[in-house]
Amino acid sequence: MATMLDAVVVGAGPNGLTAAVELARRGLSVEVYEAADAVGGGARTEELTLPGFRHDPCSAVHPLAVRSPALSAMPLDRHGLEWLHPGLPMAHPFPDGTAAVLSRHVGETAASLGPRDAGAYRRLVAPFHGKWDTLAADFLRTQWDGLPADPVTYARFGLVAAQSATLLTKTRFRDAKARGLFAGLAAHGIAPLGGFGIGGMALMFALAAHECGWPVPRGGSQAIADALASYLRELGGTIHTGFEVKHLDDLPPARAFVFDTSPTALARIAGLGNAYAHFRYGPSVFKIDYALDGPVPWTAEPARRAGTIHIGPTYEEIGAALDAAIAGHDPSVPFLITSQPSVVDPSRAPEGKHTFWVYGHVPSAWEGDATEVVERQIERFAPGFRDRVLARATAGPPELAARNPNYVGGDIATGSVAGLRLLIRPKLARVPYATAHPAVFLCSSATPPGPGVHGMSGYHAAKAVWRRLREA
Ligand SMILES: Cc1cc2nc3c(=O)[nH]c(=O)nc-3n(C[C@H](O)[C@H](O)[C@H](O)COP(=O)(O)OP(=O)(O)OC[C@H]3O[C@@H](n4cnc5c(N)ncnc54)[C@H](O)[C@@H]3O)c2cc1C
Repeated sequence: MATMLDAVVVGAGPNGLTAAVELARRGLSVEVYEAADAVGGGARTEELTLPGFRHDPCSAVHPLAVRSPALSAMPLDRHGLEWLHPGLPMAHPFPDGTAAVLSRHVGETAASLGPRDAGAYRRLVAPFHGKWDTLAADFLRTQWDGLPADPVTYARFGLVAAQSATLLTKTRFRDAKARGLFAGLAAHGIAPLGGFGIGGMALMFALAAHECGWPVPRGGSQAIADALASYLRELGGTIHTGFEVKHLDDLPPARAFVFDTSPTALARIAGLGNAYAHFRYGPSVFKIDYALDGPVPWTAEPARRAGTIHIGPTYEEIGAALDAAIAGHDPSVPFLITSQPSVVDPSRAPEGKHTFWVYGHVPSAWEGDATEVVERQIERFAPGFRDRVLARATAGPPELAARNPNYVGGDIATGSVAGLRLLIRPKLARVPYATAHPAVFLCSSATPPGPGVHGMSGYHAAKAVWRRLREA
């Protein structure tokens, strides 16, 4: 008879691995079961195009990981994780060849927005400057988990954070540059710009640039997952890859089962019926990874030294692109989030060559090919781009969902973040990581604090498991 484990984790994404590490750190016996042939989930790196070109099929840029309360408390540098900071965290080019920038320095960012908005930008970020660690700990937490560490800053941030991006940009800024920059940051939420809390998401990304940068891991985002896996093994944990869990009976006996999966899959595997029937998934993205013969020929100089480039200049264009994806329309002028990691990490491509990472928003389960509209949009800001393309790998919603079952309909956030869904996920509950089954827990980005590579859902879920096991 097999010995009873303390915990089994299903899925080796950043949250599953973080949950496993947190449990193993407390001396519990832990095994992880991952469907794919390698760990990482949304933090993978693969040669998707040509030999020597190392692409990130999912996450590439990590403002939320670098000083995440969970990940930065682990000795991941000892396990090979090294952060590389590009010259600029982010550039937002305009058709006239200029660019707004998100710099490590508030002053440089403010100056790039033009004289009429520079002061407003400084005033917006000033109350939070130098307070990232408490702010991140307070916001990347479960809202019911005790009092915030810095209640005054928390409340102050909350007043701004609750606003829509529409309200925030229209009341604070006067010109197109600042409004466009903020709308682009808000678009990471893949929700309408007029929705609750989307302004807060934009502010969080801006503060992250000033406080921690928007770095990439040397070698690609796989380095985050590999470091977590290596640390877990050091703590005595075991990882099985190439093992898709279809039913609880597939797993060895354990006191707790922690799912880094969608709520839908969890309900199916653990026999929870329609427990998450009301859980809503959001729109999807169309992803293209490029192998390039040289750097992207950006017209705007700042874009050449930025790690991330947002393409879609104005608030109006960005809002229209998001609304089209949410309403189920084909993309025509998509807003693009792009990253050029090889600008700062030469290990990502053969000498002189580059990798380029791009996605634009498309409807859930959309089956079209957005390559043409994506490249037309890039050419507006980098004429001659197409001539540098050596190879491309495309993935729309069906390919994203086939690659990782957590992306239901291609939803890379594993659950809509519109309205209050960023806070209340997968459903309203005091402990959102617990389920109707006392031994089954959910730890994926379908739980607070939501999408992104930060490991905080795994961290909080592990705490919930730990408390339950201690009580047992
Ligand atoms: C195109 C794209 C771009 C992104 N860009 C960024 C970015 O730049 N920065 C950022 O911070 N975030 C980004 N993200 C989001 C980020 O990748 C996710 O929010 C994050 O990976 C979620 O982590 P997770 O552990 O909850 O789930 P995942 O990373 O999705 O991991 C879940 C794991 O569980 C496994 N699994 C699922 N079901 C089973 C089963 N039944 N049996 C066994 N294993 C199973 C899956 O194979 C997967 O490995 C991006 C995502 C995508 C797709």
